[in-house]
Amino acid sequence: MQSRDHSQARRAREASAPVVVPRCEASAAAAAPPRRASGILGPVPPVAKVEPITTARALRGPFDYLRPDGVGVGSVLVVPFGHRDVVGVVVALAEDSELADERLAAPRRVLDHDLPPELVELARWMAGEYCSTPARALALVSPPPGARAKRAWWARATGRPPAGRPLSERQRALLDELVAGGPRAAAGDLPALRRLQARGAVALERRAVRRPVAHTAVGARSAQPPALTPDQEHVMAEVREQLAAPAPAPLLLHGVTGSGKTEVYLRAAASALERGRGVIVLVPEIGLTPQIVARFAARFGDTIAVAHSKLSAGERHDEWTRLRSGEARVCIGPRSAVFAPIEDLGLIVLDEEHDASYKHEGDPRYDARHVAARRAQQAGALLLAGSATPRPESVHALRRVRLPGRVDGRPLPPVQIVDMRACAGALHPDTSHALVDAPKSIVLLNRRGWSNFVDCRSCGHAWICPQCDVALVLHRADGRLACHHCAHRERVPERCAKCGSTSVARHGAGTERLEHDLAALGHEVLRLDADVADPGALLRRFEAAPRAILVGTQMVAKGHDFPDVTLGVVVDADGTLRFPDFRAEERTFALVAQLAGRAGRGPAGGRVLVQTLSPAAPSIAAAARHDADDFLRGELARREALRYPPFSHLIRLVCSAPARAAVTCAARALRAGLGELDEAQVLGPAPLFKLRGRERAQLVIKASARAPAVAAAGNAVATVAADRAHRGVAFSVDVDPQ
Ligand code: ADP
Ligand code: ZN
Ligand code: ZN
Repeated sequence: MQSRDHSQARRAREASAPVVVPRCEASAAAAAPPRRASGILGPVPPVAKVEPITTARALRGPFDYLRPDGVGVGSVLVVPFGHRDVVGVVVALAEDSELADERLAAPRRVLDHDLPPELVELARWMAGEYCSTPARALALVSPPPGARAKRAWWARATGRPPAGRPLSERQRALLDELVAGGPRAAAGDLPALRRLQARGAVALERRAVRRPVAHTAVGARSAQPPALTPDQEHVMAEVREQLAAPAPAPLLLHGVTGSGKTEVYLRAAASALERGRGVIVLVPEIGLTPQIVARFAARFGDTIAVAHSKLSAGERHDEWTRLRSGEARVCIGPRSAVFAPIEDLGLIVLDEEHDASYKHEGDPRYDARHVAARRAQQAGALLLAGSATPRPESVHALRRVRLPGRVDGRPLPPVQIVDMRACAGALHPDTSHALVDAPKSIVLLNRRGWSNFVDCRSCGHAWICPQCDVALVLHRADGRLACHHCAHRERVPERCAKCGSTSVARHGAGTERLEHDLAALGHEVLRLDADVADPGALLRRFEAAPRAILVGTQMVAKGHDFPDVTLGVVVDADGTLRFPDFRAEERTFALVAQLAGRAGRGPAGGRVLVQTLSPAAPSIAAAARHDADDFLRGELARREALRYPPFSHLIRLVCSAPARAAVTCAARALRAGLGELDEAQVLGPAPLFKLRGRERAQLVIKASARAPAVAAAGNAVATVAADRAHRGVAFSVDVDPQ
């Protein structure tokens, strides 16, 4: 139980929602156990501490209610709260409340989708770890809101002879079919079944039916597992040893693409299931990596539940329920699958652990990798993270096991650096020749649109987003200039708004422009980037095409497996390197290495060309040699010298408001509020570019001790945000920013 320095009523007043409510007459009240004489410990405490699921930051629960029978930690209740009813989660039970007995309200209803108590604990930890609220964290671990089980009429034959006159021929046929086929959902024949029901021959009842999810329908346990290679055996021995340990040490599986990591995940999952334990498999983006889901589905059939954003709310509800009931024991999905309601969890697989999509940008700004580590530790489960390009953080913290070569024994494709310093166009002539010769290739350019920015040739006027202070990007097919940070769009200008000149210059090339240029080479060109509505369909088209070029942003370098691709091209390797971010080197290395993993997977082999203006950059040079170890050694040394993660923890505080003066003032107050921190350095405040109409400023805390720094950040924000002088300023805290 947490100690509290405010009374419940006071806290509720602050949130302008009075908690003192009339005792309600709901049946739950009658079911509440009688209070026991003090001092005698009864079996179950009578007070339920309930955290309302609301997004209001000022509202600090939990609030006390009478505990209905059968309610425990994780129960989901509808409770009276102020003048309305809200849904809340029981986060703890207590013997006593600060509220007088007669002011303790009874919940209105107990909902049937209770949460596993471990997830309640995980959510409370997450709220603290990411300076968020328990309510917001609990919302993340709760089943999708609003969705209900889908119900349909089920018909079965009762076995009783129909009352009254003889059945018509049609009725007789229907009944015979039901007897022979067994119970089934009623469809268009519901009226006829109802008539049979009226005569006692058929019983109808409402039943929850599962909405079929395509991935799970792949087929049951068809794929025979291959015999493991000696390297895989070696890794599996380690995995099995950890699975048997009461507190498994997390493992980092480092192996190039095609080294058989996924096969290890499959075996590890089978091993956990044999032990009666559940499995979570986290993948970066299901739309881009359908293969891994298909492989799990082929091996484990209906034991699998899939969680991803393409599912309808109803489908997600059904998958959640299958996991919660234990019908499904393996959950595959992107970062939110880390909250799958699996009990007795034995294994969490973290595929492509370097992928930035594991970081959630909403509140709480959690990192699924960090949450997975916590959940695994809490459940006594093994965390198995895998990548061809692991993060320096993981290499530093986890025990590393390796798969040194490709399963097929083929070497990695040679990587050739193409020096672009003397070349004016987007493509080097050598690159163009190689693309013409290769039947199938993948071309990566990490920039969407036609050109990066447009300006006036006469007066230099540049087109900037009115909301964001960044250059607008030309999207030629739409005939628009678009901001990549907000929804702002405008028509492509015919003349300069400032001097009236009709001479408008376009600078730099994006994927749309490159798509156009590549089409001149005579191959079919398919473009994959965030502007494409259905990436899955596009990838299937590329797979089916005998000759084609796939061009796109980093989306093209994700875990696809196209054996007939023989050429990979990185058009502007410096693009990611130029980002003012300490992870720029790591990202560049990963991008080049991942693209190299896409080329030459088939018998024809392949090669990779990397166009760059900085051929000597360590990340590019190491990627060209396929030397992850050398890169990681250098990168870890650099991070240690500069005290970047994993040698410190970063916390980013951002203030934003329409007016710059308000932001500056709030940022200074935040800086003052942080004071002098032990073993931590505060950088800033520094202005950031205007985003979505709001001026911004940031502070970065670089701390050796994580918990006190997070607490200090949370307190400073709470204090400044509560100060009326800073009304209208929004604050966000990002622990481990990406
Ligand atoms: P990764 O996940 O490291 O890219 P995969 O597990 O996908 O590697 O393996 C690459 C290819 O090799 C896949 O086609 C897979 O089916 C195959 N494979 C993996 N392990 C074996 C094995 N032990 N024997 C034969 N083929 C294997
Ligand atoms: Zn002009
Ligand atoms: Zn904008």
